[in-house]
Amino acid sequence: MNTELLKKLESRCEEVGDCLEWQGHISATGSPRIYHDSRVQSARKLMLQAHGKPSEVPLKHKLVCTCENHRCVNADHIAIVPLAKFVRERLVANTNHQIRAAKIAKARRKSAKLTADDVAAIRASDEADHILAERYGVSRSYVSGIQARTKWRDHSVSPWAGMGAR
Ligand SMILES: [Zn+2]
Repeated sequence: MNTELLKKLESRCEEVGDCLEWQGHISATGSPRIYHDSRVQSARKLMLQAHGKPSEVPLKHKLVCTCENHRCVNADHIAIVPLAKFVRERLVANTNHQIRAAKIAKARRKSAKLTADDVAAIRASDEADHILAERYGVSRSYVSGIQARTKWRDHSVSPWAGMGAR
């Protein structure tokens, strides 16, 4: 534990939740920097050193901020991980995000096709779902979802509708 270094680093931080946000210089690549021992250094590495933790980044490893707060230099939020693991986790996170965004966009497109009147007609109809699906340009499962009321909610109808004007 290097108390003097720790004090110097912490004097340039602001506590935000359990993060320590760096108020000093941030490099063009987004890394907190500090002038220490006659040279500009990584504030995160120095923070690890100040806590007596290993700060050397081995070959094919990367220093990452586990809290994803890019200004954070809290030693507990810094990890040195194998590059392969980092890349894989990033890919998974990005892919999950893309899949979710695509699903949301698809769901929006589907419900945008139908008006409240269409939905009322589908719910009232006793025709086969494949006939309704064809007529309204949606899938059979979507038609049965509408009829089972698990799909398509009319957000335009206010819960106060029909209770008289205010
Ligand atoms: Zn943090």
